Amino acid sequence: MCVGDEVHVLGAGLSGLAAAIILARSGKDVHVHEIREDSGARFDGDFQGIENWTSDSDFFDEMDEWGLDHNEFKSDSFDVIDLIHPDDEITNPRTDGVAFRVVERGTADHTIDQGFKRMALAAGVNIHYKTKKAAEQCDIVAAGPKESSAVAFGEIFETDHRNIVAFQLNDKLAPGAYSYMIIIDGVGLICTCLWRKQRGSGRFLNETISWYEQNYVLNRRPIKRVGGKGDFGLPRKYVHEGRFYVGEAGGLQDFMWGFGMRYAITSGVLAAKAHLGECDYEREVRKRLVPLVEASAINRFLMNRVGNRGFKMVANYWMRDQRRCGDGLRFMSWLYKPGIIRRGLWPFVRLGMLRKKKLKDGRDVRRMPFRPSKARDNWEPSERASEIAEEWKNTQRSGGKTSFSESEA
Ligand SMILES: Cc1cc2nc3c(=O)[nH]c(=O)nc-3n(C[C@H](O)[C@H](O)[C@H](O)COP(=O)(O)OP(=O)(O)OC[C@H]3O[C@@H](n4cnc5c(N)ncnc54)[C@H](O)[C@@H]3O)c2cc1C
Repeated sequence: MCVGDEVHVLGAGLSGLAAAIILARSGKDVHVHEIREDSGARFDGDFQGIENWTSDSDFFDEMDEWGLDHNEFKSDSFDVIDLIHPDDEITNPRTDGVAFRVVERGTADHTIDQGFKRMALAAGVNIHYKTKKAAEQCDIVAAGPKESSAVAFGEIFETDHRNIVAFQLNDKLAPGAYSYMIIIDGVGLICTCLWRKQRGSGRFLNETISWYEQNYVLNRRPIKRVGGKGDFGLPRKYVHEGRFYVGEAGGLQDFMWGFGMRYAITSGVLAAKAHLGECDYEREVRKRLVPLVEASAINRFLMNRVGNRGFKMVANYWMRDQRRCGDGLRFMSWLYKPGIIRRGLWPFVRLGMLRKKKLKDGRDVRRMPFRPSKARDNWEPSERASEIAEEWKNTQRSGGKTSFSESEA
């Protein structure tokens, strides 16, 4: 809904703010409507990684090109990770450049969310917090996820361990997916991602923490527990009734690992450029982002079909590829290349993994439903995991907060 030069954006997350910054700098009167009290309030100090493998260019160079200043927020680059196989073997994929950058999400000054907010305010964007606005009254819809296809639970803690990113493929601790540990400057996050719906989800986090404690010297002092949901679906159109759907609201997110920040920022920029008449949003998104999303959906379909044996094969293949070509990032890039086999699988993915749904705003989407649990997801917690659960209750009694619970999934 345009009134002269006014542009209305729904959601002050990364995608909405990226769009707003570009539009305001081009002289538009931009209003961003955000239901929460601040940008980043959906998250609570958790670490996330901006991947650097879905394009040949470095994402920070792309941001420079768009005039988005990455010095506005803190980021830490990694060229090596600990890859934890399902049988507990730890290997090290590495690359010569930047594999990915860890940023913090939330409302603290150094978070990426607040960095984007500062850029938006400097560009003259009007951000209206704690406001509701109908999507129909907006030009750009950037309101993030609606439903759950998967959830993640994490704990933030103080630690003496050096900076590290560890990524674990493990179908027991993280059903259908992976867990990870990120430590930056004395603060750690251990997170487990559940791609099958569970009761008593906390036990997966407790067991995962127990695993990391046994394999790394952490001296862990819990602070708070965080988490969130991911909504994975492919809409039939990215422009609906004249509105541009960006970021997670437009299903522009990686189905395989849940990476979404790069897609969110890129789609926000593309929507702004389209609004300014510089490109066709539907065409650009289909050219630049949809092939990646589809490749990730095919990978997710395959991952849903395997357990720890399949995960071990993936980890072994990844390391073999690194030995062959000397670059651990090449395997990750390869995962997103369409290729004949992946393309051939696409009809099976559409039929077997995605369900057609008509959303309230009239859009047709093929959604990935939250998959049910399996018999193997029921196991008795270890002694240490039960102790960690008790420890957490004590931390809660002395003020430790949980910002995402099972009931929000
Ligand atoms: C636990 C977790 C870990 C993740 N880890 C990674 C990672 O490591 N790397 C990565 O790249 N991605 C990661 N992601 C995904 C990433 O966070 C999202 O893809 C990304 O934030 C999407 O940006 P967005 O702008 O589309 O949505 P958001 O950042 O969610 O912004 C949407 C905004 O819209 C607001 N809003 C919602 N409804 C309304 C409404 N009705 N009216 C007004 N405002 C509204 C919300 O409050 C929010 O501020 C993770 C997600 C989760 C949940």
